[in-house]
Amino acid sequence: MNIGIELAPALRQPKIIVEEKRKNVVNDVPNVILTLKNKESLVITSDAYHGIIMGREMYRCVFCKMEIELNSKSKELHKNIAKHKKILEDYPHLEDFGQNLIRKMDKSSYYCTLCTVIVSSMLVFRHTSSESHIQQLKRAISKSSTYTPSQ
Ligand SMILES: [Zn+2]
Ligand SMILES: [Zn+2]
Repeated sequence: MNIGIELAPALRQPKIIVEEKRKNVVNDVPNVILTLKNKESLVITSDAYHGIIMGREMYRCVFCKMEIELNSKSKELHKNIAKHKKILEDYPHLEDFGQNLIRKMDKSSYYCTLCTVIVSSMLVFRHTSSESHIQQLKRAISKSSTYTPSQ
């Protein structure tokens, strides 16, 4: 598959090259690829992985339990804060849930990375067998078959 732009001779070059570039930027949603123990790969958005949920007026980091200004620059900065990275390590995806990508938050709640929702401990098994969760899982698996990490 050829995705590069072939250079036409100078006289024939189209005038809309700038617009082509802009389109590429818009489509560039940061993703994270996770490879599980069984070698299966899942592709999810970077926000989902980091536990960042979009609220009405703010982003919220469910693990740091803090609000972040609603702009992508503040959000990307938050993901790189050492404290956030450390906290994220304290909430690994539970092996028992495998590809369902469930992190335990505390005794009574779990975070589903695939759906970016917080689920109570009583409902977590019902959640992972729900139709909407299964759809998210299928999407993450199918994305991984076409995903090529950017440099
Ligand atoms: Zn955080
Ligand atoms: Zn889910």
